[in-house]
Amino acid sequence: MTAIPLLDLGAQHAPLMEALEAASRRVIRSGQYILGPEVEAFEAEVAEVVGSPHAIGVSSGSDALLLALMALDVGPGDEVITTAFSFFATAGCIARLGARPVFVDIRPDGFDLDPEAVARAITPRTKAILPVHLFGQTADLKALRHVAGDLPIVEDAAQALGAACCEGHAGAVGAFGCFSFFPTKPLGGVGDGGLVVTGDAELAARARLLRAHGAKPKYTHHLVGGNFRLDALQAALLRVKLPHLEAWMRGRQENAAAYDEGLAGSPVMTPPRLHEAHAYHQYVIRAPRRDALRAALAEAGIGTGIYYPSPLPSQPCFAELGHAPGDFPEAERACREVLALPIFPELGAARRKRVTDAILTFYA
Ligand SMILES: *Cc1c(COP(=O)(O)O)cnc(C)c1O
Repeated sequence: MTAIPLLDLGAQHAPLMEALEAASRRVIRSGQYILGPEVEAFEAEVAEVVGSPHAIGVSSGSDALLLALMALDVGPGDEVITTAFSFFATAGCIARLGARPVFVDIRPDGFDLDPEAVARAITPRTKAILPVHLFGQTADLKALRHVAGDLPIVEDAAQALGAACCEGHAGAVGAFGCFSFFPTKPLGGVGDGGLVVTGDAELAARARLLRAHGAKPKYTHHLVGGNFRLDALQAALLRVKLPHLEAWMRGRQENAAAYDEGLAGSPVMTPPRLHEAHAYHQYVIRAPRRDALRAALAEAGIGTGIYYPSPLPSQPCFAELGHAPGDFPEAERACREVLALPIFPELGAARRKRVTDAILTFYA
């Protein structure tokens, strides 16, 4: 039996090869390799998809978060409230600016940060709230907006391009929405890339300035920014892929619905679905005896992933914050239980069934 990978980008790119190669040639011949018309066209196309008036292409999702916080003037003495359960960049961007990440636990019945815990964590030093739309499902933006009041929300939408909730599209609700085009993300480049969206023209202008060393015109620096620019080549390749975003999302949703059904009644907990438009960047179950299940699936040739093996507050680089095991019980439990299954759109019914059967067999 052939192996089932966790993700198969080859299958995604195969039908697009000619268009991708044509886009590459176009950029190489153009002589314009950084920002420029390809990036501007891509920004306009993503702005349309997200339903946000301003989009600024940047060098990565991590830099998108950093740039958003820089544009909001986050710095030493400030606190930014975020989740204990996410990819490192969510918290790293706060610490890199000399601000303090104030971690909050996730909800017991989901993977998103608990709005009530956010409310308790707000102090006079709080400068922003940074929720994550983990695995492609938007956090509870309605409750968070209520709790935040006038505080800006920066959405880490790195895993959620295309997702939506009652408040709007992921990324378009807060002061800033931050996206990643890391190759495995819902829209993946052939290298690093990212983007921020905002509905605020002033914040957009600040972010654009900060993206290129705060210079306007060239060699006159109003702000100390950085090099957060997006390459024309990535933008051109992403423009080839963007029109397929929705169909790929539907493919993952179909896989998710089949897994939900196939695993119903088994000892594993299928992922909660709070909103219609869940992008299912990952399909993450909670599994008893997770590591043994993972080994059994590997034995059967089925690739899985653990996102994430440990909570952010227990990372060695955050030791000085003084957190101890037990401070974030729900995030800690998630780290012990989560397992991501293959969900890529080209998976198909037969391979989906092999995954489901292997899980049911393990618990039988
Ligand atoms: C991928 C990711 C990022 C960072 O994006 P990069 O493009 O890899 O820098 C940030 N937050 C979350 C939740 C992510 O999944």
